[in-house]
Amino acid sequence: MSLPSSRSLAPGGTIGMLGGGQLGRMTALAAANLGFRCHIFAPEAESPAAMVSAAWTRAAYDDEAALTAFAEAVDVITYEFENVPAATAEILAPLKPLRPGARLLHVAQHRGREKTFFNNLGIATAPWALAGSESDFAAAVRAIGTPCIAKTTTEGYDGKGQARIVAATDLAATWARLGGRELIVEGFVDFVAEASVIAARDVDGAARCFPIGRNVHRDGILHTTTIPGGFDAATLAQGEDIGTRTAEAVDLVGLVCVELFVGRDGRMLANEMAPRPHNSGHWTQDGCVTSQFEQHVRAVCGLPLGPVEPRASRIEMTNLIGAEAEGWRSIVAEPNAKLHLYGKGEARPGRKMGHVNRFWP
Ligand code: AMP
Repeated sequence: MSLPSSRSLAPGGTIGMLGGGQLGRMTALAAANLGFRCHIFAPEAESPAAMVSAAWTRAAYDDEAALTAFAEAVDVITYEFENVPAATAEILAPLKPLRPGARLLHVAQHRGREKTFFNNLGIATAPWALAGSESDFAAAVRAIGTPCIAKTTTEGYDGKGQARIVAATDLAATWARLGGRELIVEGFVDFVAEASVIAARDVDGAARCFPIGRNVHRDGILHTTTIPGGFDAATLAQGEDIGTRTAEAVDLVGLVCVELFVGRDGRMLANEMAPRPHNSGHWTQDGCVTSQFEQHVRAVCGLPLGPVEPRASRIEMTNLIGAEAEGWRSIVAEPNAKLHLYGKGEARPGRKMGHVNRFWP
């Protein structure tokens, strides 16, 4: 039976989750705390999410029979990664509520569509141009000027599929290195800080943003998020406005994270979006009355949103990448730290193995 959009799913119901990574795992744990069951759909052999869930369908995202059976077994469907193939969403959406919906997935899967979406809402971004060929690429770099950043329009994450261009030389090599595929060229933003806003919106259209933290990246991967981020009230208000307007424009039910640059003039620019819980919101697990994962569960199940007040005067989330997770013994001995490990087998370099939330009451 499908879930009527005006009614909530009662505890005991089953949330279907596309994707089996750590975001799905932490969502499943939050769902379990509210009495829901999670059913994971993921093709990989190892699934941190399936380890803590009631059921797992291990099948490919184009396996129509498996997707149909999965939809029959669950009450509502969500996802923990934005690259859910459009065809998969098309199969599932008529069968059970898919939250957030296919429109947000479509926008979030392509950097050009994201930038167009933001600009159409009057949300500022770095100047940008698309390049579908090597000659387009040279023209785009000339139009944007150097320094600039070239990124693949699809499938890039954690700094992968990107190149910084300081001079308009060797563009052929950069084009080849990034795979000879469509690129977006973005003006280099001389930011003073990076931040992100995570907005939640429920089935009745009520929206709420989590407090905005300061993000620090290392090698293109998020390293820390700190709350409070030291931003003034006007900057924070801009960020909340960007989050709320993004959520409303797509009639969001669920979460959306917008990554932001804070310019020298205090103006916030949107970089990219993710229609799901986000690494920069992991601090909420121990630092907020409602975690981002619980908020996501509440929204997709049709429950009212929970309060988002911080529970500590300062909290810092640090990612544990690759071998850093081997430091777990000393972290569990710290008095003001909460360790979160994802149950992944192999600590490959660059792989997110866990995180730690350190808090100051
Ligand atoms: P992204 O994959 O778009 O999230 O980019 C990863 C990181 O690269 C960002 O968090 C920034 O630190 C940096 N970066 C991306 N785009 C730009 C830009 N247009 N100007 C300056 N730095 C950028």
